[in-house]
Amino acid sequence: MPLPADLPTPLTAVDDPVLARAGVELRLKRDDLLHPTVPGNKWRKLTPNLERALAEGHTRLATFGGAYSTHLRATAAAARALGLASVGIVRGEELADRPRNPSLAAAEADGMELVFVARSAYRELVRARGHPLVQRWGRCLVLPEGGSNALAVRGTAALPAELGGLGERDVVCCAVGTGGTLAGIAAGLPPGARALGVAVLRGEGYLEQEVAALHRAAYGREFDNWRIDHGHHGGGYGRVPAALEEFAAGFEQRHGIGLERRYVAKALRAVHGLAAGGGIAPGSRVTLVVTGLPDGPAVSRS
Ligand SMILES: *Cc1c(COP(=O)(O)O)cnc(C)c1O
Repeated sequence: MPLPADLPTPLTAVDDPVLARAGVELRLKRDDLLHPTVPGNKWRKLTPNLERALAEGHTRLATFGGAYSTHLRATAAAARALGLASVGIVRGEELADRPRNPSLAAAEADGMELVFVARSAYRELVRARGHPLVQRWGRCLVLPEGGSNALAVRGTAALPAELGGLGERDVVCCAVGTGGTLAGIAAGLPPGARALGVAVLRGEGYLEQEVAALHRAAYGREFDNWRIDHGHHGGGYGRVPAALEEFAAGFEQRHGIGLERRYVAKALRAVHGLAAGGGIAPGSRVTLVVTGLPDGPAVSRS
């Protein structure tokens, strides 16, 4: 394994009054504790790609992301740990001359060369799967936006095996950005168990197509054991409405676990909302995958 990690990550039961009233059990899969600089689903998605990069003798990784991309940051950290160079194409030309946000500052500190491009040019590059990049930087392994490709999906598919015996009453839940994590979890589930993705951006229809395309790319077929909730994105990517903030802060206080807001808190709130409204059947056991770390200073590993 190119980046040693603490596997399997802890699985903890959470006693929550709202869920208890709805007859729903909750467990947290603490993938946020997986690796200190390449946390959560980013480690699971990157690892098979890193193995490929090393096996094929690549010396440079290139990828894409928005200004707050955790994928860019994780790719920079992983590249540095393996002694590889890295290039990050960032959406938004205007960001070039602004002070770096913590995400981009961290990527740069890990040696990532940041290239800021206008939104239209960015879309072109993403669509061309970065081919113009390969010309500019010579040989490099190009990872898609968000890091979701067939290898990433297969990496994430190892997660359900760490959850013990899963059956008919089990729902494994995760946030959905590009859909790679959900695609892998669904593919790794035993018969009977189901996966629930919570969209963190407006993407009804589009995200379903992405997940199906990733399944075809990774396994040559589609799966029917998953669905995506579109009712809890809070207005769009990166938006954290006051009610979500309040929910997350309350949960943190009651349970002493830091919650990343843009993905994890939205997924957890969706579980609460769906359970209370009958969208998750009584008797279900939900395992929420804590896919990443809260922003800001390091969290305790309690
Ligand atoms: C990137 C990220 C996701 C989204 O994963 P996808 O595979 O792109 O759907 C979810 N949670 C966290 C914390 C992330 O950083």
